[in-house]
Amino acid sequence: MDTLTLKYPKVQQFINGHFVDAVDDNYLEVVSPLDGSLLSTVPLGTAETLDQAVQAAKTAFPLWSAIPIKERVQVFYQYMNLLRKNIRELSELICEEGGKTGIEARAEIEKSIELTEFACSLPQIIGGEVLEVSQGVECRTERYPVGVVASIVPFNFPSMVPHWTIPNALVLGNTMIIKPSEQVPLSVLRIAAMLKEAGLPDGVFNVVNGDKTVVEAICDHPDIAAISFVGSTKVAKIVYTRGTANLKRVLALGGAKNHLIVLPDAVPSMTASNIVASVTGCCGQRCMAASIMVGVGEVDHIVDLICEEAQKVVPGKNLGAVISSQAKHSHRKVHYRGRDIAGGRVLVDGRNAVVPGKEAGYYVGPTIIDNVTADMAIAREEVFGPVLAIVRASKPSPKPSTIENRNPYGNATGVFTQNGSAARYVAERCQHRHGRRKHRRPRSARTLFVRRLE
Ligand code: NAD
Repeated sequence: MDTLTLKYPKVQQFINGHFVDAVDDNYLEVVSPLDGSLLSTVPLGTAETLDQAVQAAKTAFPLWSAIPIKERVQVFYQYMNLLRKNIRELSELICEEGGKTGIEARAEIEKSIELTEFACSLPQIIGGEVLEVSQGVECRTERYPVGVVASIVPFNFPSMVPHWTIPNALVLGNTMIIKPSEQVPLSVLRIAAMLKEAGLPDGVFNVVNGDKTVVEAICDHPDIAAISFVGSTKVAKIVYTRGTANLKRVLALGGAKNHLIVLPDAVPSMTASNIVASVTGCCGQRCMAASIMVGVGEVDHIVDLICEEAQKVVPGKNLGAVISSQAKHSHRKVHYRGRDIAGGRVLVDGRNAVVPGKEAGYYVGPTIIDNVTADMAIAREEVFGPVLAIVRASKPSPKPSTIENRNPYGNATGVFTQNGSAARYVAERCQHRHGRRKHRRPRSARTLFVRRLE
């Protein structure tokens, strides 16, 4: 690969406090979704590269974990200052590699700062407990770091999702390996550089770029004690199964299909603008994005307003791009399936969006499909784009909460109504049908990365 054509130098691994070239020459291109330009290349790390990072983290662990938490946290106060100081440059990087709008990218860095702030409060909230169980007999709970931990992250938040784990794991005294998404590897390298500048000792934080080979090596490595995974459900299951089979703690967060239930008495303008913002924010590539609207009874006037609102969201202006040409292509396929299979009606069609001057970018405009039925692929599968499927429900059957509950995904459900008891009725039934929760309640990163000694 001719490095002169790259906008940024080729991506390196970050091991034991140093940026190092990959030992093998397998590289993937890193392309900007905004205009299809070549940004860099990313190495596909091997099990050997991972092992080097683990050995560095293992060596660093005794010293780092022995430093009192109040001193460890000082590094993160410095780091937070660097995030604030570099917010513009970091936001631009997120736009370029992830295809977000400027506002979305800046919000992501602001969240990263907030998450680091939270970790800085850990000394106040992570203390142990002492219980006098009988005279002269105490039961103590003390918390310790678990050791070398790993974090595997998805493409859709190149900075925020890594910050779900990095500050928590490190403030708590663990040492760490992160495996960024090979689609957006640039932001994590800036994070590594800033952590070093903030005073983090060598080996405490390591970055191993790559694909499934590195993920599998993480699941199998005997010196990694805990894994945090965020990504698709398919891979979450692989990581959870393989990691726990190797007796590691694993927190695996998967995909989503969020339902918004709209009752006829909902405030039309507020409902329409909220739903469109939720569908199109981050180009629909958020695990909390609205994906299905369940319209109960007569809501045509709200659907009309939603379509009007959607027309105001313009690719390349206030709507970013999807991550890859493959993602753009799969949106086309899904929409066709929505129309062809069961009579879904496309009300707003963003499939063929093109931004003048950025014809090579991966743009998909807002897309709204009405008359979707719950058994159609578009209602069952995660779409991860600015697409809203509208399922109609008449009262009393099928109940909107039944439609939501039948879908195997979470993460969130909303209800639009002015009637408090109707809202409560829906809230009580979603996710609790037959006493079943769709998701095992996840432990937080804070509890994943501490060992309780009782
Ligand atoms: P992904 O599952 O494809 O990739 C996630 C990570 O796993 C990446 O680092 C990738 O390199 C690795 N990976 C990919 N395929 C693998 C395989 N076969 N074996 C082992 N490792 C593999 O996810 P993505 O496309 O990067 O991100 C989007 C997904 O993440 C969506 O499903 C979204 O809902 C989900 N997500 C969930 C949350 C949440 O909190 N639940 C948050 C953000 C994103």
